[in-house]
Parts: sequence; structure tokens; C-alpha cells
Amino acid sequence: MDIWQGPLPGGRPGTDHTPATTQVTEQHALPGFEAVARLASGALDVSLVALLLADGSAFWYIPPGQPDAPPLDGALLAACRVAARRGQAEVVPDARADARFLPAGTDPAQDGIGFFACEPVFGLGGQLLGALFAVDRQPHPALRAGAQAALRDAASLAGTGAALRSYLDRTDPATGLPHRNAFFADLHTHLPSGADTAWIVAIEAAPVARFNALVRAMGHVYADALMRAMAARTQAWMTPDMQLYQVGTSRLAVLLAGLHDALPPAQLDALVATLRAPIDCLGVPLTLQPGVGLLKVEARELRGGDPLRRVMNAAHVAQNSVRGWAVYDQRQDERQRQEFFLVTELAAALSERTELELHYQPRVDLASGRCVALEALARWRHPTLGAVSPATFVPLAEQAGLMRSLTDWVLDHGLAQLAEWLRGGLDVRLSLNVSSIDLDATLQQRLAAAAARHGVPLARLELEFTESVAIHHNELTRDVLDALRRAGVGIAIDDFGIGYSNLDALRRMPATSLKIDQSLVRNLDARPHDAAIVHAMAALGHDLGFRVVMEGVETASVLAAVRDAGCDEVQGHHIAVPLPAAAVAGWLREHAAPAAAAGAGHAERAHRF
Ligand code: C2E
Ligand code: MG
Ligand code: MG
Repeated sequence: MDIWQGPLPGGRPGTDHTPATTQVTEQHALPGFEAVARLASGALDVSLVALLLADGSAFWYIPPGQPDAPPLDGALLAACRVAARRGQAEVVPDARADARFLPAGTDPAQDGIGFFACEPVFGLGGQLLGALFAVDRQPHPALRAGAQAALRDAASLAGTGAALRSYLDRTDPATGLPHRNAFFADLHTHLPSGADTAWIVAIEAAPVARFNALVRAMGHVYADALMRAMAARTQAWMTPDMQLYQVGTSRLAVLLAGLHDALPPAQLDALVATLRAPIDCLGVPLTLQPGVGLLKVEARELRGGDPLRRVMNAAHVAQNSVRGWAVYDQRQDERQRQEFFLVTELAAALSERTELELHYQPRVDLASGRCVALEALARWRHPTLGAVSPATFVPLAEQAGLMRSLTDWVLDHGLAQLAEWLRGGLDVRLSLNVSSIDLDATLQQRLAAAAARHGVPLARLELEFTESVAIHHNELTRDVLDALRRAGVGIAIDDFGIGYSNLDALRRMPATSLKIDQSLVRNLDARPHDAAIVHAMAALGHDLGFRVVMEGVETASVLAAVRDAGCDEVQGHHIAVPLPAAAVAGWLREHAAPAAAAGAGHAERAHRF
């Protein structure tokens, strides 16, 4: 038995038909076709039953044990197409003499057919949908009584199946709403025919993670009922010129063809209000966090642009807004796409490890001029985007769950480099930036493992946490930091002075250094107020027992002001920019620590920067 359903494959004769929309992604088989074809082939005793529909799809059936069935192609397919378009019943008991089935130059033994019968197929509204064919190699001079009536019945059933298929092709069985295929088909039909613009209103019922959690907790039946309730609320809001679609599990879209102006804000506020109102769904009360997105589409944008993706982007943004609705914003969309692209690329960079690098910025003790530490700063050179700043990719790594891999890479790479410097006789410490995500019970073990792997003493390391992480810590983070301190690891509070510090929490921090944020140093030499603030911070840091570090020192006059303010250590472009690993040894030699120099040189060297 051979049964085949679907649009005719490309390259075969008669595939000139292009589907109404290229967005159709699912083609439903024709419900009941196999049973219909089996009945027809039995009643007419033929080796091929075929159905051709006006949408370009073809279905055929060859009963079991019929190796000699004629293939549905060549002259036969062409003849079937003509007959399907004509829409009339026809029986050709002896088709051997019929030129339609055997064009000149073909071999009757190979390509010929003996019998051909056709019945038009109509939809439920009486419209012509195509035709059903019964074909055999042998002529059927005496057609069995009732055979033609059987073919007519089969064609009628095929019409019902085709109607059902077109319903399924447009309709979501769970909500009964037209679905995504129908949305695109309608958008494509509306726009080129008269209306040159349309508005799409997209509704995301809840943040995806939350909706998924709801499905896990309550099941699909509940989620479907919830979407039906959301659809009913939207329908109650809609005007008669709007059409509603279910375009995703938790997503609806409303199409307004021919509308030029945006919907009035009050109307959109009303939609958000109705969607936000608590729902009693199957006896379980629930309040959702819907987002409503709006997009104006023009006919010329249909090719290539994906309006549904764009409007869903607006709905997603709206979800977190107070108003709950948002008009599509191309710049924001591009930013998000760029971020998505970057995250994907960063994941690849982390696994291949050829685009990432660490640079090292010296931190210098003001009193002695010694380089007390090198801060490792991640650098990413993307092959097409060029240098991507850590200020961009570190937060993305945090959001995308890549922070652990990034930190592991930094630990491994930085400690390998430190080990090499120590083996080469350099007396340096390494300071590493870590994110709040890293600050869990495994951090110490990860750090200790990396240190052991590279043979580096933990006392040569310092971790930098931002002020907010350090201050808003809980018992666990406090324990982790205490354990790290006990193991000899230094702890620095980075970017201090720009958050809201809880001085009591600061007092209890097991930190060793306080790094004042560089925004406070910019105009230190010119703005007395800033100088007073830094002075007070330095005093506070000292009182709490921390080393006070000033970062971002760019000029000699700022350096002088930092010194006056009482800071202990400095870091910044005036001293050194972050250096590639290969340049570090040379820089250290050039700015040799006075400990290595003698007596009088000390004071002079201490003031070199
Ligand atoms: P941060 O830890 O506060 O690092 C200091 C930043 O200031 C660095 O920017 C450094 O290049 C820059 N800088 C140093 N001196 C000067 C100066 O004199 N003037 C100016 N204008 N800037 C100066 P960078 O390398 O772009 O890093 C930005 C932030 O990204 C870092 O701020 C840190 O929070 C984060 N980061 C960098 N690498 C890593 C990493 O490996 N892991 C983690 N978790 N975060 C990192
Ligand atoms: Mg830092
Ligand atoms: Mg900083």
C-alpha cells in the first residue's frame, strides 16, 4: 500500500502553485483520506485513487499488492489538474485511446492508463475544492453498477475531510481561535488587497517562565482554560473590525486591517485593565501579568520582516511596565537582538577560549611606590564586532547564566598567569573581579581548586566584590567571605561610594580594602566638595581597618589630590592602563619596587607616579 499526502514535492510536474502564504509551517494530513480512498478503490477495483485540491496539495492511495499502479505524474497529473479545475464528473472506461493520458512520443506500455474516472469535490458551502480520481492500468469496459455512485460518495466524504483540514489549518483545537497560520494568511490577504497598513495588538498573558511554572503546577487543561478566559476578555474589548488569533501557547494577537492611526491610549489602558483583573479559572483565582504590544505594519514590510516577532517584543517589554502596553520600538528591539547575539557569541567564546583575554592593571601603594597588586580585567575581542567592553558583557553573562563559566575561565587563566610570574621571580598579587552570582558556598572550593592546580598560595589572591554585593549580604555570603578571609584571600569592596551603604553592614564586612569608585575622582582636583567626600571616605575606611584604594586616577593633579585625601593606594591610567600579560614584567621592572632599590632612592621612587 502506498499512501501519500501533502503538497506535491518540488521538481515534479504541476508544482507551479505557490501556497497563499509562506508562513504556513504545519500541513495537516487530510482527515479520513485513507478510508475514503480504500472504499473507492474497492468499489471501482482500481489501483490508484488520487485527490487534487485547489490549494495545490495532492493525496494518493495505492491498495496493497499493486506494483503496477500508474504514478501520479506526467500526462496523468496534467489531465487530473485540468479535470479538477473543470469540476465535472467524468468516466473514461477505455482511456487507451485518449490522447490526454498519453501524449505523443510516450510508451503506452510504460506510461499509459486504461481507466479514468473523476468526481468533483465540494466544500461544505458548495464551493469547488478539487476532484477525486480513480485510475487503473486496465480498461473497465463494463463499469460495475453503483461504482460511479460510490465514487461520488467518496468525493463527498473527501470534501468533508478537506473542510476539516482547512479548519484545522486555521484553528487552535484548545481555544477554538484561529491560530498563527491563519494570522499570517489573513495578514497577507488583507494587506495587499486594499488595506496598505494594519495594526497588530499582541498579548502575552504572563512572563514565559511564570506561564511555564503555571503549566507545571496546574496542567495544560488549566492553561488552556486560562487562555480561553483571556481570549474572552479580549473579545469583549474588541470592536467588530478586529480579529483575534491564538499565536502561541500564552499569546494572542488582534489584527486590525486598514487602520492608520494608533489606538487611543485610553482604549489600550482599558484592555490592560481587563486583562490584569483577577481571573477565577476553574475555581482557582489568579492574577496575571500581561503585556500588550502594538505594531503598525505596512504591506511592503511583509516580505522578510517578521511582524509577530516584533510585536511580541513590544508585548514583552510592556509586561514590566507600569502601563502594561507599549508600541514597538525598533531601537530597543535592535538592542535586545544585539544582546541575544552577544550572549550566544559569548557562550561560544567561553567554550573556544581564543577570543577572551585578561589584561592586568597595576595598583600601587602611594607611600612606597610599590605595585601591590595587579587587577585582572577580562577583555573580549570578537572577530567581527571588535572589542566588547566587560561593562557590556559581564552583566549579560550574569543574566544569561554564563557567569560561572566566565569566572571559572578568569580564575583558571589568571592563576596560570600568576603562577608563571611567581616562577619568574616577580613578587605580585592578583586581584580578581567576581560577581554576586559567584558568591555562593562553592566559591571558596572553586578558588582553592584553581590555586592548587596552578600551585599558587591563596594569600597571593584578592577578590573584588561590588559595594552592593558586599553590603547587601546575608548569612551565607558572610560565611563565604569569612572563610575566604581565613584562608588568606584578600577581599576588596569595589566601586564604593555610588550605592546606598549600610555603614553597620560595612563595619561587619571581613574586607581588607575599600576601592572608591572612579566617578568620585574625576574632578577631585577641581571640586572641593568631591575632595571632602573622598577625604571622609578614606577616613571612614581607615577607621574600619581597610586599605583605601582610589581607582580611575588619570592625571598628576588628581593623583596629588588623592594623596592629600589620605588614600593608601591608587590605580588608573596615570599610573598604568590595563596591560596585556606580556607587558606586565617589563612594566614592573621599569617601575621597580623600592624594596628592591636602596635607601635614598625610596622617597624618590615613591613619588614617581
Ligand atoms: P572595575 O572592577 O571597577 O574595574 C575598573 C575599570 O576601570 C576597568 O574597566 C578599567 O579598565 C577602568 N579604568 C582603570 N583605570 C582607569 C582610568 O584611569 N580611567 C578610566 N576612565 N577608566 C579606568 P573595564 O576593564 O572596562 O571593566 C569594567 C568593569 O567590568 C569592571 O569594573 C568590573 O566590574 C567588570 N569586569 C571586568 N573584568 C571582569 C571579570 O573578569 N569578572 C567580573 N565579574 N567582572 C569584570
Ligand atoms: Mg574591580
Ligand atoms: Mg571599580
